[in-house]
Formats: sequence, C-alpha cells, structure tokens
Amino acid sequence: MPRQPREPDLLLLHAPSVYDFRDRAILYGPVSDMVPSSTVFEMYPLGFLTIASYLHAQGMSARIVNLALRMMNDRRFDVPAFIARQRPRAVGIDLHWLPHAHGALEVARIVKEIHPDVPVIMGGLSSTYFHRELIDYPQVDFVLRGDSTEPPLHQLLVALRDGAPLDGIPNLTWKDAGGVHVNPHGYVPTTLDYVDIRPDLMIEMMARYRDLESTLPFNGWWRNPIAAVFTVKGCAYECVTCGSSRTTCTHLTQRQRPVFRSPESLVANVQAFARLTRGPIALIGDLRQAGPDHASEVLERLRAAELPNEIMFELFGVPPARFLQEIDRCVPHWSIEFSPESHDQAVRDAQEGEADYTTGEMEEMLREALRLRCERLDVFFMIGLPAQTVESVRGTVDYCERLFQLGDKRLSCFISPMGPFIDPGSRGFEEPERFGYRLFARTLEEHRQLLVQPTWEHILNYETKWMTRRELVDATYEAARRLNELKMQYGRISQRRGRRVAAGIAEASALRARLDAQMARGGDAAGDPALKGEISRFSMSTVCDKRELFWRARLNNFRITEALRIMGRQLAGRASRGHGG
Ligand code: SF4
Repeated sequence: MPRQPREPDLLLLHAPSVYDFRDRAILYGPVSDMVPSSTVFEMYPLGFLTIASYLHAQGMSARIVNLALRMMNDRRFDVPAFIARQRPRAVGIDLHWLPHAHGALEVARIVKEIHPDVPVIMGGLSSTYFHRELIDYPQVDFVLRGDSTEPPLHQLLVALRDGAPLDGIPNLTWKDAGGVHVNPHGYVPTTLDYVDIRPDLMIEMMARYRDLESTLPFNGWWRNPIAAVFTVKGCAYECVTCGSSRTTCTHLTQRQRPVFRSPESLVANVQAFARLTRGPIALIGDLRQAGPDHASEVLERLRAAELPNEIMFELFGVPPARFLQEIDRCVPHWSIEFSPESHDQAVRDAQEGEADYTTGEMEEMLREALRLRCERLDVFFMIGLPAQTVESVRGTVDYCERLFQLGDKRLSCFISPMGPFIDPGSRGFEEPERFGYRLFARTLEEHRQLLVQPTWEHILNYETKWMTRRELVDATYEAARRLNELKMQYGRISQRRGRRVAAGIAEASALRARLDAQMARGGDAAGDPALKGEISRFSMSTVCDKRELFWRARLNNFRITEALRIMGRQLAGRASRGHGG
C-alpha cells in the first residue's frame, strides 16, 4: 500500500454533513443557499487553519483533508481506502456545526475501524455542547471543549506521544478503563493574538502532500477565493437562535465577554492573505464590538497597508454614519454584509432582545453606504425567527422591493430559512417555550437521525408558535419566488439567471410534493434510487443562485509568483531534510 510522503502529527478530517449522501435521496432544501458551501456543508471551520498554524509553530505537522469536497467532486472517491493509506499519529474531526452530526461520527467510526490505535479527537462548538454524549461513542477517544483549543490540543498530542498523564490538560473530556473524565475548562484566552491563520500553510500542505484538492475550503474556491480573517470569538449580542450569543458563550465556552485580536495582529493577517490573493478578504465579526478606538486603529492600519483587495466588513448593528465614512477614507475597496434578519421591528426585538436600531435608522445607514464608495452591500433576511408569521415574511419581501427602489445595483437582498437546526446551546434551544419554539430533537443522536429524513421539512429540528415546519417550508419557497421576480424586475440578476432560479424553485416544490406523497403511502423516499440524482440537483442554490453570493470572478485571482515561492520553499525544505515523496 503506497504510503503518504510524511506522517502528520495530526490529520484533520472534515466530513460531509451526511456521510453516505452519494447513495441517498434527500431533499435538503435551501438550507445552505446563503453560505458558500453546498448542502454537503463541505466548508471546513476556520479552526482547522488556526490549529494547523499553531501546531506548525510548535514544530508539529498537521494535514487538512476535506473529505466532503473530495467525495463531492469524485463520486468514486473511496474514503476507507484513502484513510487506510494514511499513517497519522492522531486524527482530529470537526463537529462544529451540528449538521455534521451524521458524517463526523461515521468518519470517526471508519478511522477507528481501520486504525484502532490512532487516537480520534473531536472538537468544535457542537462537540463542546454534546461532549458527554459524544465521548460515549466507541469511535471517539477525546473531545476538546471550547472555541480556542489550539494549546490544549498541542498539550494532548505531546502527552499522547510521551505517554504522559492526561488529567492536567484543560478543556479535555476523555475516557479510560476508569470511566469518563471531564477536565476543568481552564483554557480561556483573553486575547486571540496567540494564534494566526497562515494562508501560506495551505499552499505548503498542497506541496508537501502533493494534493491540490484536499485542502480547499469549499467547492469552487479556486474561482472565488474568499479569504476570511477572524476578528473576535464570542459575541456581545443576545440573538435567541445563535450558538455564539453572549449567554450561550457564558455556558459553552466559559467566556463572559467576547475576546478580540489586536489591530496589529489582525491587519498583519489581512496583509498575509493579500500577498497571496487578489480576491476579497472578509473580516469576520463586527469590529465595533471591541470599541471605537479599536475599530479606528484597525482602519488606520488598513489605510497604511494600501491593499488592493476588497475588504468586506460585517455589521451586527447600525453604526453611526461617521464609522462608514472612516471606512471609506481608509479602505479604497470595501463592501458590507448586514443581517437585520427581518424588516419587522417586533420580530427583530424578539430575536435580538430589543434591537438597538430602528428600521428607519437601518435604512439611513444603507443610504449612507451607497452614497460612499461601498462596492457591494448584501442584506440578509431569515425565516424561522421568534414572533415571525407568514405575513411578516411576506412583508420582508415587500421591504426588499423598497430597498431595490433605492435604485442602486450595489445593494442586494437575500432571504433563507434558518436551518436545518436552531443552534444547540442557544437561548431558543435551551428555553424553547419561552421564545416560542418547539424542538424535534434534543440529543446528538436525535439530530443524527433527523439528518437522514427524506425532506428538509422533516430535517428541521424546530418549528415556532407562529409557523409549523410545513409553513416554514411553504413560506420559504413563496418568498424565494417573489424575491427572484423582484430581482429580475429591478435588474439585480439577469433574466436568464432569474428564469433558471424560478424553474429550480418550481421543480423543488414539485419534488417535495412527490416525496410527501411517497411518505404518506409509507414508502422510503430516501432510499429510492430513481430519485437520487434528481434530488441533489434541487438541494443546491434553490432560493437564489449561489453565484450571487460570490464576487465577480477575476481571471487572475492568485498571486501566482507568491504561491510558487511558498511551494518552492516547501520543496526545498523537503529536499534539505531528505524527505522523499
Ligand atoms: S447572530 Fe447575533 S449573537 Fe450571534 S454572532 Fe451574530 S450578532 Fe452575535
């Protein structure tokens, strides 16, 4: 059996949402339309890159393999055979987003079956929430809890290598013959500067393992190399359905308030990406959460850096006009992503706990951004919120028309269902009755089983006092149809693209009716081979064309010379250390 060129200290595997998605016929619906990845949720968490960078800095090696992407792009890609060829010292699997409950556990099972002596480590927010349940699965050896696990993970790998005791490793849940142990949650950093995302490491991994595809974050990334620089962990806001809200973090990650990285470290990371790509760079998190001085210093440093890339700013609330003017003064190419979730003040108040802005103030802010040089203004709305009725969803689409009437094509609107799951640990999950939710799953195992239901109506883990699951699905398709028509009418998308989206929505609705009828007759729709390919076609880009989310394609997205320089450095390193291929 051919061996891989080097044995990583840690092999990081990203599983698809549902492991055997290629053999199933499930109408996942538009649950991933608003993120770059598909319903397979092939995008791996940023934590993979921070872990790889941290271990690298400590003299250890890590390899990222995006199994989900490999499985999507090659129907014959054989996961067990691939895993059998690897010789890692440990395997890490993310269960950060709960929609991976099925795939992550199945990949862990396969790893354990093939390499029974290799430790399997799980991590991510969902792993943290379900750590007691997760550790009971025979294929899971360790769970690292919290949202900052790089140093504890390094300690664990060293301890496993040296056979040292494990009871002093913070944030670790583990088991031995004596039972399950939950070490104290002792690692909660007060700054994020201890770790970075090194974009050059991705290129190095590609060169070292002679594998271009496995490290890519999501399908189509070559064409749309959006770079993400995280600015914060945790959040000061209290959105009811969010697994990163202040209350949730207090319980889940033991973080009393959000933690930031310094402006210096943040902008240095942006510059590192800009050396490699000409594509947009998204700053994840609202800069203003760390205070006005922090935000001003970031902007001043960006100004001094004189980057040609578009910088995307995320806004959690409505900033004063002078903040946008500051951005405009400091950053030549910028865009905004803003998620009010609903146009309806009552719904926003129910979701955000007295939203700190009115709809009128929000509109003022949008006008100001358009008055300035903002190159792109994406406004996101959501279906499935507390206090939101079918009528309110219709009102949101009417409001989108009102925004389109501002007459500026830089502004775009999107609407999608919250799904498939309300976040575990969120206030809505913990106190469903209080916020008007009804949950269909509480445990990890129940969520794993939901993921293989035949249609997304049955996959959703919630409904609300105001909309049943059926109504949530109906409202989604209706809103999608109307918004698509408005986008054509106001020239936001071409007629051709709009007609294609409309046809997709109509066919997805028809397919849903067929599956419902089949289920009503007691048939196993998910196992129907005749529906396999047909269904996956309508599970992607249903309510909008995913390309609307992407930036205009640039022929030359990458700084090829920089990539070659990194690859050359890696190959030279291998030659000098005598590592064969
Ligand atoms: S959804 Fe709300 S609570 Fe969650 S990260 Fe965004 S602003 Fe913060």
